[in-house]
Amino acid sequence: MRRFLLFLLCALLGLLAVVLVNTLRLPNHQLAPVPAAPAVAVSPDSALAHLAGALRFATVSRTVYSETDTLPFGQLQAYLRRTFPLVHQQLKLQKVNRYGLLYEWTGTDPALKPLLLLAHQDVVPVLPGTDSQWTRPPFAGQQAGGYLYGRGALDDKLNVVGQLEAVEALLRANFRPRRTVLLAFGHDEETQGRRGAAALAAVLHPLHPQLELVLDEGGLVKADGVAGLTQPVALVGVSEKGYLSLELSATGAGGHSSMPPALTSVGRVAAAVARLEAQPFPARLDGGVSGLLAYLAPAVPFGKRLVFANQWLFGSLIKNSLAATPSGNAALRTTTAPTIFKGGDKDNVLPIVATATVNFRLLPGDSPQAVIQKVKELINDAEISVKTLGEGRAASPVSGTDNAAFLTLHRTIKSVFPQALVAPYVVVGATDARAYAALCPQATYRFMPVLMDQAAIESLHGTNERLRPAAYQQVVRFYAALIRNIQ
Ligand SMILES: [Zn+2]
Repeated sequence: MRRFLLFLLCALLGLLAVVLVNTLRLPNHQLAPVPAAPAVAVSPDSALAHLAGALRFATVSRTVYSETDTLPFGQLQAYLRRTFPLVHQQLKLQKVNRYGLLYEWTGTDPALKPLLLLAHQDVVPVLPGTDSQWTRPPFAGQQAGGYLYGRGALDDKLNVVGQLEAVEALLRANFRPRRTVLLAFGHDEETQGRRGAAALAAVLHPLHPQLELVLDEGGLVKADGVAGLTQPVALVGVSEKGYLSLELSATGAGGHSSMPPALTSVGRVAAAVARLEAQPFPARLDGGVSGLLAYLAPAVPFGKRLVFANQWLFGSLIKNSLAATPSGNAALRTTTAPTIFKGGDKDNVLPIVATATVNFRLLPGDSPQAVIQKVKELINDAEISVKTLGEGRAASPVSGTDNAAFLTLHRTIKSVFPQALVAPYVVVGATDARAYAALCPQATYRFMPVLMDQAAIESLHGTNERLRPAAYQQVVRFYAALIRNIQ
């Protein structure tokens, strides 16, 4: 007995030693900023006025493209031509599907792979009936209380106009890139990006089959931190989750509701959905969370660092704590979201067919085929048919964090946001970047250089989308710095 207790004590001490050593030897992934480049002269007021002007064109995406009013897109492009004359004199501009824009600033060294900056011109509609709730009208580009208001102020005209502003300023300063710089601005990102990003990528492919770095929206500098940290965290998306919608359907006999069978088609589909919700896909740290925690670990208090540094031991603890919130849960697993339920249209008639649509967002590592297979197993009912709606897709390739392009991006972020920690993560939504994955699978990142707190993030597709003028100055500075640093 005593020998057993002694053995147990030794084992515990050994474990403690391993945990402590792991914690103390944890590598610090945070890099030093790039030494300050010569400042690029941009007047903050005129830059902000340029962005405000672009917010006045209601370039609203409609789900059915033929319902899109294209007039504002043409007006926006004429406005960009007037506002950025050097860009339009000195860069090549190719229009794709009429409103997609591809700018090329040809570098002096054709052997270097180009840098590609992405953004989109379209915006989501303002929810009908909510116009009056805006502090300033959504398409007026007006300021109030220290903010610039407008649909597109964050998503995503600040990136379109911010990139052009940076290039215009560099041209004014007679800067000439060695590495070709490309800008591609789609016009239907909010509705799948087929006419914009997908077509632009197809045009780009034969011209520049390999790129050095692709940067699109996605992550941002979260002013109020993540994982309990209070300092800003620059979240850089290294991949985006995949997408799959399945329609589950059951066919019954129908008939009068006065004599129902034991299990109706509605009941059968409802049970199938209930089984899927009750058995979520497994939580995994290797789908992006692990990398995020490794980058944050050196900055968190010792107790938490101990947990982050020993994911092999505390994995369940981390998973349970993350799974408690919908956003944490989405980072951990392929999610299951029933979105549409249909069946019957009269209260006293049994429908013959009942259907449910379930939307899945796939973590890197899960394929659509594997998800479909698993769904069938979980439902475990041969009477339920499972049909794929549209095209499912796996997560985009996971880009690295140890290549030269990422290191330059990381250090450039640090030079504009010295207080921020940089951390890679997996974007749970969709961006245009996935269309370009084949051109640069190793270094496609989703990050916009803007400091935002949680309240501002929630305004992104909602009411009172707004941006602080000081945050916009950093956007322009960041793009100018990145173009210089990547040379
Ligand atoms: Zn967007």
